[in-house]
Amino acid sequence: MLVPAIPTPFPLRWGFSTRLEDVEASPMAHLSQVHGCGIVEASGAVPEADGQWTTQPGVRIGVRVADCVPILLAGPLPGGGPWIATLHAGWRGATGVAEPSGGGILRRGVALYRSLGGDPSDLAWALGPAILACHFEVGEEVIDAARRDPAWREDLQHPGPRSRPHLDLHGFLKAQAADLGMDSGKDGSVALCTVCRPDLLWSWRRGDKSGRQWGWAEILPTAPTHD
Ligand SMILES: [Zn+2]
Repeated sequence: MLVPAIPTPFPLRWGFSTRLEDVEASPMAHLSQVHGCGIVEASGAVPEADGQWTTQPGVRIGVRVADCVPILLAGPLPGGGPWIATLHAGWRGATGVAEPSGGGILRRGVALYRSLGGDPSDLAWALGPAILACHFEVGEEVIDAARRDPAWREDLQHPGPRSRPHLDLHGFLKAQAADLGMDSGKDGSVALCTVCRPDLLWSWRRGDKSGRQWGWAEILPTAPTHD
């Protein structure tokens, strides 16, 4: 499925695969994902990282997920050139719990964009299908890690039927996005729960140990203009 039509700063294709699509057959820059916060420039190698970015038209980048949130970002750089990124955010990535300096992968991705001269309010962005608050039962240590983020609000968790907390991971990332100055008018998120939709989506927690969907993005080449 493609990201719903939202304004984008340059021509691109981006979206989220489902179990009905064979995106593995499409050329894609891969990562060896480790539930961390490392973000690298796509290079043709398969680095150990959980996010990648590119400024090159025609290079399809992606992250593989089956409950974690795939995050897509697209923004202009100074001078108007394109920049896209795809990030993998489970609770560890979203909270940055394993990072000595703190800050999750969305915060790191936006910091990287800023370091290249980008303005976060220019970013078009989308969170993809993931385990949503209806099914994302977690331990208290997860809530404790999320509370360290300055954008945390207590209404992002609620007690589940087994009296353990359920975390709203999409809501948590959207709170971070607002805190980072991203524009809710450029949000093309798809709020489908991987556990609720076995007809459409893979879910590790529901029992799919190998199937994954992709969050992917590709800058489209712009046709040369002739006077
Ligand atoms: Zn659900």
